Amino acid sequence: MLDWNELREACMACTKCQLHKKRKNVVFGVGSIRSPLLFIGEGPGEKEDEQGEPFVGRAGVLLNDMLKIIGLDRERVYIANIVKCRPPGNRDPLPEEQDACIGYLRNQTYLLKPKIIVCLGRIAAGVIIKPDFKITKEHGIFFEKNGVKIMAIYHPAAMLRDPARKIEAFSDLKLLRKEIDDQGLEF
Ligand code: URA
Ligand code: SF4
Repeated sequence: MLDWNELREACMACTKCQLHKKRKNVVFGVGSIRSPLLFIGEGPGEKEDEQGEPFVGRAGVLLNDMLKIIGLDRERVYIANIVKCRPPGNRDPLPEEQDACIGYLRNQTYLLKPKIIVCLGRIAAGVIIKPDFKITKEHGIFFEKNGVKIMAIYHPAAMLRDPARKIEAFSDLKLLRKEIDDQGLEF
């Protein structure tokens, strides 16, 4: 496993899948590398590709607002994606792109050693929790892997399309808050 600097450098220069061809920026990840909380999205959108930072578009603004409501902020958690380069037209990342990229997220997770992981949306949950994950039925449920609690909520972009999902995500985030408090995590 690489350290943070080595990993960032390797990722910035990566050409392991076709997504490198059209990217403007690699979106490595952002936040506190001392955080016990890791949020995982699927991949950069247009704004993220332009700015080189995850969740900076409309979905990101919503995510930040929802984090604030449960007393968290963006700078104190760590946020990354399954793929680090933008899939054209915001299509889902292909399985071969996910496979090519997942090593970076694994290495990030190894370095961070989070106590809680929150998957943002179906794609991340399918990779991190289980392949047959059903977001409509299983959002807000904590799974456990190697002592790490893992939950998925609806993707913020899906919440923007359907406000009912925002309400459900908010009650999931309250469960997240409770888990943070139960574990006595401070950050
Ligand atoms: N959607 C994602 O899944 N990730 C981002 O970084 C931005 C939007
Ligand atoms: Fe490399 Fe991941 Fe970008 Fe593909 S998406 S080029 S694997 S960093």
